[in-house]
Amino acid sequence: ALVVPDKQVDSVCPYCGVGCQLTYHVKDNKILHVEGRDGPANHKRLCVKGRYGFDYAHHAQRLTVPLIRRADAPKRGDFSMDPDRVMDVFREATWDEALDLVASKFIALRDTHGKKSLAGFGSAKGSNEEAYLFQKLVRTGFGSNNVDHCTRLCHASSVAALLEGIGSGAVSNPVMDVMRAEVVIVIGANPAQNHPVAATWIKNAINNGTRLIMMDPRRSDLSRLAHRFLQFKPDTDVALLNAMMHVIVHEGLVDQDFIAARTIGFEELKANVEGYSPELMAPICGIDADEIRYVARLYATSKGSMILWGMGISQHVHGTDNARCLIALALMTGQIGKPGAGLHPLRGQNNVQGASDAGLIPMMYPDYQRVDSPAAIARFEQLWGMPLDHQPGLTVVEVMNAIKAGSVRGMYIMGENPAMSDPDANHAREALAALDHLVVQDIFLTETAYLADVILPASAFPEKTGSFTNTDRLVQMGRQALAPPGQAKQDLWIIQQIASRMGLDWHYDGVGDVFEEMRLSMPSIGGMRWDRLEREQAITYPCENEGDPGQSVVFTDHFPTESKRARFVPADIIPANERPDSDYPLVLITGRQLEHWHTGSMTRRAAVLDAIEPDPVALIHPLDLVALGAAPGDVITLESRRGQVTLYARADDSSPRGAVFVPFCYYEAAINRLTNPALDPFGKIPEFKYCAIRMSIG
Ligand code: SF4
Repeated sequence: ALVVPDKQVDSVCPYCGVGCQLTYHVKDNKILHVEGRDGPANHKRLCVKGRYGFDYAHHAQRLTVPLIRRADAPKRGDFSMDPDRVMDVFREATWDEALDLVASKFIALRDTHGKKSLAGFGSAKGSNEEAYLFQKLVRTGFGSNNVDHCTRLCHASSVAALLEGIGSGAVSNPVMDVMRAEVVIVIGANPAQNHPVAATWIKNAINNGTRLIMMDPRRSDLSRLAHRFLQFKPDTDVALLNAMMHVIVHEGLVDQDFIAARTIGFEELKANVEGYSPELMAPICGIDADEIRYVARLYATSKGSMILWGMGISQHVHGTDNARCLIALALMTGQIGKPGAGLHPLRGQNNVQGASDAGLIPMMYPDYQRVDSPAAIARFEQLWGMPLDHQPGLTVVEVMNAIKAGSVRGMYIMGENPAMSDPDANHAREALAALDHLVVQDIFLTETAYLADVILPASAFPEKTGSFTNTDRLVQMGRQALAPPGQAKQDLWIIQQIASRMGLDWHYDGVGDVFEEMRLSMPSIGGMRWDRLEREQAITYPCENEGDPGQSVVFTDHFPTESKRARFVPADIIPANERPDSDYPLVLITGRQLEHWHTGSMTRRAAVLDAIEPDPVALIHPLDLVALGAAPGDVITLESRRGQVTLYARADDSSPRGAVFVPFCYYEAAINRLTNPALDPFGKIPEFKYCAIRMSIG
């Protein structure tokens, strides 16, 4: 018989940064199906994750009661995900017992070992309000700025370059602006897999005459539709981009008026790219000099050119340099600050933009106000009513190193899974296991939760209300459609309970109250009242005054820097930290695949998605498979200097010879055991996109 929903709830998709609006159709506290809504970013479109990836919320493995590690539990280094062993390791507790233990241990560690002995990782899957309260708890309750989240693994280098160059870490134009562009460059990104609805707008733009230039070491679905596809050698982004700038300078294609009126530092950049002629760079990046010239001319001379980029740009030890080159390209040609011309780093998680805006980063308070700026310190000390630490805190990988060094001893992790997502994951797991006190708040017994002392059962995305900011700077309402299962609680409630037990005198009458406090401290959303957001459902920032409609294209007349001008920052070639050699002759590139999201905790528990992609796979060039003596479907082992995994081989000629691509969502073949924790010195982002490996059969 036809099952009729008893309610429909409007919300947004919990997965990627495109921020598709959707409607949950619910009966008896279960989601029956999901439908795309007419939101600004999706206009009723959804991808396979948005449409079918909802039933994780009803999965039998949901955490429904607080758990405390047993005194006689197996050693924490004895890592296992066997669900049958959970109660050998943990015992059930009441909320009061668990929360009292959490707070008392944090207080004891702080008072014994100092404020910097504690750290917190929040989540880009949580709401803006959760991110804001989480960082406030760390800064005021723990007493340091040791707070970070997965933006550090994602676009931290892009943000570092954008803040330095143009004074803002967010996009200049929404994705939809590709429809107004004559030329679109997509570099180091695979939108068809990772931002699928955004990819549909790019396809629509191509159908309307926009020329797409794909630039990536790997071929992707969009490459087939591209006007030009530049399959450059891995790790040679700066060589290719500097060569393009060399052409633009030498052929007089720069926008002199824009450079004179809106920028500083051009002469230095011009001198730097002089040494990067296309002829010199062609053998380095593997792209013919004439092709570099053609693409440079096309980009520079179009009426409107957009650049969209992803983690192929950001996740390198030279990630900030890569982004500096993209910014310089836009500035020297005046391809920014108008409709259809701009810079767009495609955000990964559905709220990584908002979580960063809300201050879930160690060097900035909300709205990117530096923690070492006297004016910002004064503002937040007054707002929060207590003295604050004036030193930037530790970033994600730095926290893991500090644990191993004994200086960080307690952690609060909300909705992140560093045991799977951190580079050199064996090292990260050892670090987490070495903590005196690890508290994990999540919806499943993740690989990180298994190492915890206390596990707090939290709410899934459809079980709470909050605001979420997509890749376009669009703040949107996510609404509660379900009650959490068992004794699981909403994350905002849990954070406040810990704060209260740590002596903080907070009073929030619901999520709207938290948003209103955020608004007071964040000029960019100053005009965005909660009741307006509830009514309008989606508002773009900057929105500084009430009644302000929000601004989707920014930098139209000035950049938000002290001088109001943007700055060119030259970049030179820096090689990857670990190059292939005779012992480890192949390059490992990690990333995502369409059906699974990040560490897989949600999508691998969504029946349709798991049925499509159930097993860990490595995508290997067919000729490399032949050279190994293996066939597609064979079990192979990949090994780096840091670890090894065993998984299935899949023939895939979209990867160049000598490069192996592996998604990082499979716990049984956790590929981050192999990746290199070497950091970009500016964004402190690890080099996920390049390390040396070898492979063998079996
Ligand atoms: Fe969700 Fe992103 Fe897919 Fe849209 S494109 S439905 S936001 S995963």
